Amino acid sequence: MTLTQPPLALLLDVDGPLASPVTRRVPEDIISTLIGLVNRGIPVIFNTGRSDAFITDQLMGPMLDAGLPAGSVVHAICEKGAVWFSFTADGPGPIHVDRELAMPAAFGDDIRALVARSYDGHMFFDETKRAMVSVEQHVEVESASYLLEQAKFDADALALLAAHDLGATRLEHRAPASAGTVDYRVDPSIISTDIESVRLGKDLGASRAVELLAAQGIVPQAWRTVGDSRTDYAMADWLHHQDHAVEHVDVRPAEGVPAKPYPVRTAADLGLGGDVINDFAGGAFLKSWLDALA
Ligand SMILES: [Mg+2]
Repeated sequence: MTLTQPPLALLLDVDGPLASPVTRRVPEDIISTLIGLVNRGIPVIFNTGRSDAFITDQLMGPMLDAGLPAGSVVHAICEKGAVWFSFTADGPGPIHVDRELAMPAAFGDDIRALVARSYDGHMFFDETKRAMVSVEQHVEVESASYLLEQAKFDADALALLAAHDLGATRLEHRAPASAGTVDYRVDPSIISTDIESVRLGKDLGASRAVELLAAQGIVPQAWRTVGDSRTDYAMADWLHHQDHAVEHVDVRPAEGVPAKPYPVRTAADLGLGGDVINDFAGGAFLKSWLDALA
């Protein structure tokens, strides 16, 4: 196998930097910039809590329509590292699922029933998840109204975890199982709540990304990670800890930028205003990297 060392590899959170949190869709200009980067040999890897079905619809389909170059491979790490697949111009390869990281099916069934019974007006059960249990805001529901209901839903979800004797955390709250274990996490975001193994995370996604590239003989000279949440920093934390050169881009630095041992960029570094966030900031950074290669 020939070793290739591209100047950059991109590890991209999807909701926020690529998909608008308002429409949940990826704008066309981001698709064409991604194609431009792939064309120049830059590895593009998605690292998301989303399902493989979401990536197939929102990224793979549009990228294939836009013309993915022959011979290039795009990797998608889904469900925070529990599920992954790769695609080429010929379409998707096999879906891999780490079953050890999946929620018990009976618990998922109870959450589905809970949503149908009490939360149908604000949120829906994501049937496309294979390992996580995720409940998402309906696009048409107002954010403030969703966030109020989400707090109630999360409390009910914690009660159901306890009923199944599944030890769990939510932010600072910690409720061990009868054996003292805490194997699960309730993770609220601005548009959804994920219930998942504590072993899932953006750091697991980063380690899978490095492995997937290594299997192709690709060792990037540097990484760029992009996210909109505090938890997305785990990608850059992990890469930095493994001695990879990395810079992180925060496209929604509303809570400020934490001190890190690697550079952290925001839209302000591109000379953009503080109102340029999410996919607008994500798209601008992708473009800046493409322009720098041209
Ligand atoms: Mg996100």
